[in-house]
Amino acid sequence: MDASIPTLVQAVEALQQRQISSEELTGACLQRIADLNPTVNAFITVDAEGAMQAARQADQVRAAGGGGIPPLTGVPLAIKDLFCTAGLRTTCASRMLEQFVPPYESTVTARLREAGAVILGKTNMDEFAMGSSNETSCFGPVRNPWDLARTPGGSSGGSAAAVAARMCVAAIGTDTGGSIRQPAALTGTVGLKPTYGRVSRFGMIAFASSLDQAGPMTRDIRDAAWLLQVMAGHDPKDSTAINQPVPDYVGALDRSIQGWRIGLPAEYVQSNGLHPDVRAALEAAMAVYRELGAEIVPISLPYTQHAIPTYYIIAPAEASSNLARYDGIRFGHRCAHPKDLKDLYARTRAEGFGAEVKRRIMLGTYVLSSGYYDAYYRKAQRVRRLIAEDFARAFQEERLSVILTPTAPESAFLLGAKNQDPVSMYLSDIFTINVNLAGLPALSLPCGRDAHGLPIGMQLIGRPLDESAILTAGHVYQQATDWHLAVPGCAS
Ligand code: GLN
Repeated sequence: MDASIPTLVQAVEALQQRQISSEELTGACLQRIADLNPTVNAFITVDAEGAMQAARQADQVRAAGGGGIPPLTGVPLAIKDLFCTAGLRTTCASRMLEQFVPPYESTVTARLREAGAVILGKTNMDEFAMGSSNETSCFGPVRNPWDLARTPGGSSGGSAAAVAARMCVAAIGTDTGGSIRQPAALTGTVGLKPTYGRVSRFGMIAFASSLDQAGPMTRDIRDAAWLLQVMAGHDPKDSTAINQPVPDYVGALDRSIQGWRIGLPAEYVQSNGLHPDVRAALEAAMAVYRELGAEIVPISLPYTQHAIPTYYIIAPAEASSNLARYDGIRFGHRCAHPKDLKDLYARTRAEGFGAEVKRRIMLGTYVLSSGYYDAYYRKAQRVRRLIAEDFARAFQEERLSVILTPTAPESAFLLGAKNQDPVSMYLSDIFTINVNLAGLPALSLPCGRDAHGLPIGMQLIGRPLDESAILTAGHVYQQATDWHLAVPGCAS
């Protein structure tokens, strides 16, 4: 099978030099989707017609020439099915929105389209982004291209699998507690969660609004820098979007990291749940960084252990409030023949939501209810602050450029291994969730393989708004190693 789908930067160069047309490239991606999606299940909706039309338009723009050709003209991308796309079904992998066709476009997809990107379709995910294995999707789980019996991670598992299996050039995901980085780690790809507020959330279907962030999912760091360059920036439609200029991420890639101090948190490396193969890969990566002239600095983030319980109060609380809008009245699923209004609400929600979403709504409603609010929600907000201060203190006192950790405690697990035990599933995000609570930028990149040959990922965490530092640190590592070049069996 043809594995010659290029990276994003390779695609841009080939399109510029007329070695390939967007029509050919988009057609090649659609062919791979047709071949592989029946097994991998990475896409919920494929917009072949819309994509081919956009590709032909892009070819015309390039043919007309002249200056000002948008940077991604003709590049085919996949979008997590949580971004509203005008006229194109957006389901959040839920029965509740199975037939929902948004009347408007998210800022992220609008910016990508303005930059000339071609949208191939919408990728599978955990229902409303709640999960770490893609098994809560009402469209069935995504399979990991490295081993079809295993999960690609979640919730952006469809985007990660589509990138790993070369069904698109690159993809977009969202990350509330690890949903870009953990699937990237489990599929041998790169995933970046920007600083909270760096990318507009307008038109993203909300899960936990104080944590949700959109980001790129790509084959290498350079591609992630290119996509972030287009996605980032202020948006008057999102009051939490930060109004600060977007730096030149691409231009910052080729800096030297000579003399950089890289923090290594003891709590992560000593974690009981950390698989020895992951620890070994991380140690090898530390050696690469030392050779590149950086110093590895042991640090402590003492509140780390409280991150999962804190997240599982704050995220469900916000979710219970955000998901109240699915009431069967304005949009989404509505039950048949309701007796009265209460019956309409109750049955619509009972039928429309899956088990994990219901669990979160119940948890969230409980922690927000009067009498429990102070004990749970207010306390969680305070611990959240302490977690953020841990990071701020370490960055400042130790004069760190970035922090290095494992992304996930283990490589891709078997489908079915954890879905009966929510707590074991929640622990998949033990190294990523703190970063969302603190609002920091972080990315995952491949750094090795385990005994089964499955990819292992490491995480680089940056100071607020310093995406450039994690991109540079990731890029110099990829210049010195070749883990990111490996192609999974089903795509080679
Ligand atoms: N796995 C975590 C959860 O289930 C994080 C999900 C996410 O980042 N969207 O909430």
